[in-house]
Amino acid sequence: ACLNEIAHRDNNINAFLSVQQESALEKAREVDQKRTAGKPLGKLAGIPVALKDNICTEGVNTTCASRMLENFVPPYDAHIVERLKAADAVLIGKTNQDEFAMGSSTENSAFKTTTNPWNTAHAAGGSSGGSAAAVAAGFAPLALGSDTGGSIRQPASFCGVVGLKPTYGRVSRYGLIAFASSLDQIGPFARDVTDAALVMEIIAGKDHRDTTSLDAAVPEFTSELEQPLENLKVGYVEHLQEEGLHDEVREATLRALDVYKSLGAELVPIKLPHAKYCVATYYIIAPSEASSNLARYDGVHYGYRADHFENMIDMYAASRGEAFGDEVKRRIMLGTYSLSSGYYDAYYLKALKVRRLIRNDFEQAFQSVDIIASPVTPTPAFAIGEHVDDPLAMYLADIFTTSANLSGIPGISIPAGFSENKLPIGLQLLAPPLEEERLLRAARMFE
Ligand code: GLN
Repeated sequence: ACLNEIAHRDNNINAFLSVQQESALEKAREVDQKRTAGKPLGKLAGIPVALKDNICTEGVNTTCASRMLENFVPPYDAHIVERLKAADAVLIGKTNQDEFAMGSSTENSAFKTTTNPWNTAHAAGGSSGGSAAAVAAGFAPLALGSDTGGSIRQPASFCGVVGLKPTYGRVSRYGLIAFASSLDQIGPFARDVTDAALVMEIIAGKDHRDTTSLDAAVPEFTSELEQPLENLKVGYVEHLQEEGLHDEVREATLRALDVYKSLGAELVPIKLPHAKYCVATYYIIAPSEASSNLARYDGVHYGYRADHFENMIDMYAASRGEAFGDEVKRRIMLGTYSLSSGYYDAYYLKALKVRRLIRNDFEQAFQSVDIIASPVTPTPAFAIGEHVDDPLAMYLADIFTTSANLSGIPGISIPAGFSENKLPIGLQLLAPPLEEERLLRAARMFE
């Protein structure tokens, strides 16, 4: 049924870069045979799952929506792909994204722009826009994405689905094509909180192939989910970014706080004094790490190589010049600049120090509250094309999401209403490190 929906409607949505029809049907049949034979089945038996195209799949094209990796076929599965296969999930396709996950609208994809299933003139968000749209459009009940500065939560908010960014280190990054390694995390998109919790049970946990993977017990996230949290203290920032916050988003956030109050929660105003530096800090650290991570695309080890060049240096330059898009080049230049001697102290090192202050703010805040509620993005889904010529405007919209990545804490976006022109608005909840269970339960209370 999902494959049929994709075949009939994805030409309008552009959620997928590739669809693995044959292997999906084969897996579905295999699961069916197991079922009839009475054999034990995995937790996701027969459930179609879509994967962002920066997650490596053995034998299946993984492009990162870049010309650089247009023909790249990984010889191995990412850790989470192994886990999903072992859980008997049916992997149906690879979803569109911004090139190397750099962007907020999928407009930086080298191949196509994903549209918002609620209104195709609007962006699905990004960078995991294809995964969010796939779930919202009914192409797959579940999808996986990656979140470096909001790339799961922002498209989830734009598309009216649930999107979770786990604690840094909760889910192995083995086989996730790196953007900014100290910020990247894989997480689920789902129609509701329960489904997101189920995916977390499968993908979370220690993996020795990712040295930052945490050796922490993985709770059965679905088991306590229906239990409302007692004496819940919900923190919120008063007067948060008064300017630039869309009225309808502010109203939806205030309404959501009222819902928690009516459920018996206590609303506690908190201070995050360094939150205003999140975007500036993020746009030093993420491009710095990207400039280093993307050095591997040299036309030799991986990916695209130019046809015409004079010598080795020229071959590097021509290959990278032809295969990377504008935004990727912009990030590489920004990052190389802030890491260069003479500027390192003023930019990169300074950003690392501010990052610590941002993290301290959250540690402080979580002394007095259990979760923090905020908007996900300053506006509902913007129109396609609205920000393409203004990268800075696009960056500034990451104000509410980047803090979770900089401080490593988990965050979730859940549907919280609609704008007057019928575009979804999300609510973000944040919790202390490794408290996904609390986060999911608090989110489930709201549903
Ligand atoms: N919009 C942010 C950026 O462009 C976040 C991207 C992400 O989380 N991958 O970097």
